[in-house]
Amino acid sequence: MPAISRRSAELGTENAFVVLAEVNVLVKQGRDILSFCIGQPDFPTPVNIQDAAVDAIRKGRHGYTASAGIDELRAAAATYLGEMRGISIRPEDVVVGSGAKPFIAYTILSVTDYGAGDEVIYPNPGFPIYESQIRANGAVPVPLHLREARNFAFDPAELESKINARTRLLILNSPQNPTGGILTRRDLEAIAAILRKWPDVWVYADEIYSRLTYEGEFCSIASLPDMYERTIISDGCSKTWAMTGWRIGFASNPTLAPVLTRWVTNTESCASHPSQWAAVEALNGPQGDAERMRGSFLARRDRIVNLLNRVPGVSCKSPGGAFYVWPNVTEACRMTGIADSEVFRKRLLEESGVAVLADIHFGSRVPDEGQHVRFSYAASTEAIDRGVERMADFVRKNTR
Ligand code: PMP
Repeated sequence: MPAISRRSAELGTENAFVVLAEVNVLVKQGRDILSFCIGQPDFPTPVNIQDAAVDAIRKGRHGYTASAGIDELRAAAATYLGEMRGISIRPEDVVVGSGAKPFIAYTILSVTDYGAGDEVIYPNPGFPIYESQIRANGAVPVPLHLREARNFAFDPAELESKINARTRLLILNSPQNPTGGILTRRDLEAIAAILRKWPDVWVYADEIYSRLTYEGEFCSIASLPDMYERTIISDGCSKTWAMTGWRIGFASNPTLAPVLTRWVTNTESCASHPSQWAAVEALNGPQGDAERMRGSFLARRDRIVNLLNRVPGVSCKSPGGAFYVWPNVTEACRMTGIADSEVFRKRLLEESGVAVLADIHFGSRVPDEGQHVRFSYAASTEAIDRGVERMADFVRKNTR
């Protein structure tokens, strides 16, 4: 057999999809499973956005576009990104892609060299694609631990201890997957103060959940003095307008835009043309549906946090954004004699039909931070009520 590359053998994955496969097996067996695994809005895409795509198709707008995206979308995204962040962004600095996700790889490819010892600092726990793409592209992954005591921000002193002359890129994600935590303006100011001492470090600001901020105003590192030029801002349509399957994201940086565009040319050619017109409507059209969805997520956050805190052995912080909660189950594991969060989540699925993800699906467990699981609360309130009740029964039944 011809060999596969070491790079592919080492490629990580999103374990959400692995757990989803486990869930599907159980569902096929006729089990009643309540799933809190998948990170996508449970709403249909707003109708005005659907109509814009149908209209584009009917008008024959379904050929290739420029790799950087149609002018209308680059302009709309430049205004959108700039207004939210209080900065001025030119349309030519924005590149459109098939979701925000590809820009993680394109950025790493654009600022690090394979096997050169280039280091990339990234949040842990964090979106698993960061570490996977850092490794696959021959850079050195340097995890930066998030702390529950800091509402899942990291300690700037820890950043300072990890940044050095080999550091090429710092990945930030706020609001964050999986903890739901946010980096406040104060956190970001402390980070910026450190970065000013290291002018050669790029920053990838993964702000895909920007509009799902519940505590205070959304703040981007790109808004702070000296940070705009070196920051790749990444945002998109998936979460804000319930458009995960449409595959539209965008990234902005004045220096890297042409480089990112060449990566798009080399891989996807361009994002889906009809979807780009839908995205123009999402950005420029009425925002009532997006606001209603956000309001619904906020209500569900409060509901699930309240319920989880009543489960024996569980404590859950109220996260500042996204649609995830990251309850601490250390005590529940101890009470039930369950070895760790991964065994906990497996038994919870098999014995109680509740599907969640474990902390190990988002990187290595942070020393001294205990055991956590992730719920995506983009689920019905009925599912939330029943799911958490089942979890409480599971802990009570198994307590020694
Ligand atoms: N970044 C983070 C932190 C995410 O959670 C996700 C989606 N799960 C993405 C990026 C990618 O989003 P998309 O490609 O759908 O725009």
